[in-house]
Amino acid sequence: MSRKPFIAGNWKMNKTIAEGVALANELKDQIAGVDDVDVAVCPTFVALAAVGEAIKGSNIMLGGQNMFWKESGAWTSQISPQMLMDAGCKWVIVGHSETRGRFGTVDDELAGALSYFGDNDKTVNMKAKYAFASGLLPIIACGELLSERESGRTDDVITAQMKVCLDGFTKEQALKMVIAYEPVWAIGTGKVCDSDEADRVCGLIRGIVKNMYGEDVAEAVRIQYGGSVNDKNAAELLAKPNIDGALVGGAALKADAFATIIKAAQ
Ligand code: PEP
Repeated sequence: MSRKPFIAGNWKMNKTIAEGVALANELKDQIAGVDDVDVAVCPTFVALAAVGEAIKGSNIMLGGQNMFWKESGAWTSQISPQMLMDAGCKWVIVGHSETRGRFGTVDDELAGALSYFGDNDKTVNMKAKYAFASGLLPIIACGELLSERESGRTDDVITAQMKVCLDGFTKEQALKMVIAYEPVWAIGTGKVCDSDEADRVCGLIRGIVKNMYGEDVAEAVRIQYGGSVNDKNAAELLAKPNIDGALVGGAALKADAFATIIKAAQ
């Protein structure tokens, strides 16, 4: 079965509203007419509505970088899927390693190991379920730490993450979910995962999906690779049979580079 490639840009904590709109407009021009690749950009929450307005009617979709599993209420700093959809989102990233606090802590020069952004596999699952229930589509991220890879535990870590993160969807939902394999050591480091190895782990994830939801879902589900994807290495990664797209951070901040990655997926 052929799966439509999906390239998503995670802008993280970058771009003012005006800068985001300018980037979106540039990208829109550069990929006009590309209709065989799904494309999404995920700006900061404050830029969502303006970027959403800029890309209206284009082939670019809008996504949030995170969400909470409630519609509204006393949840200071959080955002609901309903609010993301109100701003024009179709997608939401859940479980990015940065929202998992790199699995518990973030090392800070001054403060040491800080524990914040405490997503874990269970909260990622709750977020994905609530996204579906609300009408948003989740990009569910997973990935191993360098220490886990070096101790030969990559497959066990990914399997454990996926079993919890993907638990309990309906078949219809499972068909629509997108999974992003993002080795933590490759994110923002310039150290891209070897393409054969990235393909192998994406294949492992497809096998887990098959065990949980059956062959037809495994064949249909799109699995992105993320971690230092750029305009030079994208074509090799995207040519692999189990890699159906990319979740792109740094290289999504420049229209030229991101457009090249999108065209490499065609
Ligand atoms: C990401 O933010 O998901 C990511 C993969 O970042 P980068 O492309 O910069 O490594």
